Amino acid sequence: MKKRTFLKLSSAAMAAPMLAPLTDLLPAEKLKNWAGNYEYGTTNLYSAKTLDQVKAFVKKEEKFKVLGTRHCFNGIADSDRQFLSVLALEEAVDLDKDSQTVTVPAGVKYGQLAPVLEKRGFALHNLASLPHISVAGACATATHGSGVKNGNLSTAVTAMELVTAKGEVVQLSRTRDKNTFEGAVVHLGGLGVVTKVTLQVQPTFQMRQYVYENLPLDQLKDHFEEIMSAGYSVSLFTDWQKKRISEVWVKNRMGKDKDRNQKDTFFGATPAKRNLHPIVELSAENCTEQMGVAGPWYERLPHFKMGFTPSSGKELQSEYFVDRKNAVEAILAVEKLRNQVSPHLFITELRTIDKDNFWLSPCYERASLAIHFTWKQDWPAVRKLLPVIERELAPFQARPHWGKLFTLTPDRLESLYPKMQAFRQLVKQYDPKGKFRNEFLGKTVLPA
Ligand SMILES: Cc1cc2nc3c(=O)[nH]c(=O)nc-3n(C[C@H](O)[C@H](O)[C@H](O)COP(=O)(O)OP(=O)(O)OC[C@H]3O[C@@H](n4cnc5c(N)ncnc54)[C@H](O)[C@@H]3O)c2cc1C
Repeated sequence: MKKRTFLKLSSAAMAAPMLAPLTDLLPAEKLKNWAGNYEYGTTNLYSAKTLDQVKAFVKKEEKFKVLGTRHCFNGIADSDRQFLSVLALEEAVDLDKDSQTVTVPAGVKYGQLAPVLEKRGFALHNLASLPHISVAGACATATHGSGVKNGNLSTAVTAMELVTAKGEVVQLSRTRDKNTFEGAVVHLGGLGVVTKVTLQVQPTFQMRQYVYENLPLDQLKDHFEEIMSAGYSVSLFTDWQKKRISEVWVKNRMGKDKDRNQKDTFFGATPAKRNLHPIVELSAENCTEQMGVAGPWYERLPHFKMGFTPSSGKELQSEYFVDRKNAVEAILAVEKLRNQVSPHLFITELRTIDKDNFWLSPCYERASLAIHFTWKQDWPAVRKLLPVIERELAPFQARPHWGKLFTLTPDRLESLYPKMQAFRQLVKQYDPKGKFRNEFLGKTVLPA
């Protein structure tokens, strides 16, 4: 007999009315993304609570986009007609202990799901720096955490339910539909409305987070692999000044990683004396617990706590992925630009992600280093700087994060993604008339 448990999520967001415009519930007239740097083309936002409502909406409407939790920094989720939100889908969470999978409504946030899983003794393999994002929105853009052996968050997907442009429900599974599945999981919102996602889970685990300050850049040059493999998940933060990494965050998995002593130095870096924010001047109040204090996976893998504002708030973000075997060269290439980069930067984060098989994943067939930039919110300055960084990283075939800011052309993107044509075929099959197409997709993966 199968051990399946149906769990309820509690959330205020679940109380949204049936296919009613959500505009009244929005804080301001204008509909913007989380960071406030991007104003969407319309405020027509509808919310579906059931699969039937999604199907009816898809059949009726000629053109729209699904909006997740609005954490992307560009127009990937934008529409000039209307939005559908599935954040209030009323499905239960279906935990299958035999197969160690959990099936969730697509709009659930990791921060809602994680404690429910933990209560039943399960964990996800990884989380992003923040738990505030929706599962479907995160998987659509190959959102990632860190760890040399950890694939991005979409690598946990084993199946998904998608409503295509005709209103038909398609079930895709990793084992049954290998090829289509690999094309569809990282879909940039271009294939349809994802209504359910099944994720691989594993027995819960505890973690300890250690932070070190001032890692000399020379140590990184000589010991990159050792440093990035020092824990289950390792993040390096730098402002590119003074030839040093300002903070190293090592997230150790208890029972698997070697225990460390909070008082020991780390490749020349000194142990932090208190919890730190990645931007050292900011209060660590919104950051997850450090100083080697043990805690559950979901309270250590993200950098920021669920109930608090993640990162700095008023910011922009960009991120580029290079092959891990070129990691040091790529880091040094950016370091050369420090005098141009630093004035506009809050902080850079360096993370590793294991390779995967998803056609549009920046880690497609490439174990990667991700070089992330949290920028001050000065788009004219950042827009000038991005091509300079992209030129410097071009020899490493750097692929951009789809949900962040970049200026690469469709031709360049096509050269970076060997399965781009195959993805376009998949779009033709699921969305022949361009119902889910928007300006962003036109400027990136689906040029006219
Ligand atoms: C403070 C901050 C920290 C971040 N940290 C990280 C990090 O650690 N790692 C990382 O990789 N990224 C990070 N990001 C980026 C972020 O995780 C991604 O951009 C993610 O895609 C956002 O998910 P969302 O639910 O907000 O999606 P949205 O921005 O709302 O939408 C993203 C895309 O998904 C599509 N979509 C959403 N839901 C559905 C659905 N149900 N069906 C079909 N399409 C759908 C949308 O149409 C759109 O194309 C961060 C962003 C912020 C603001």
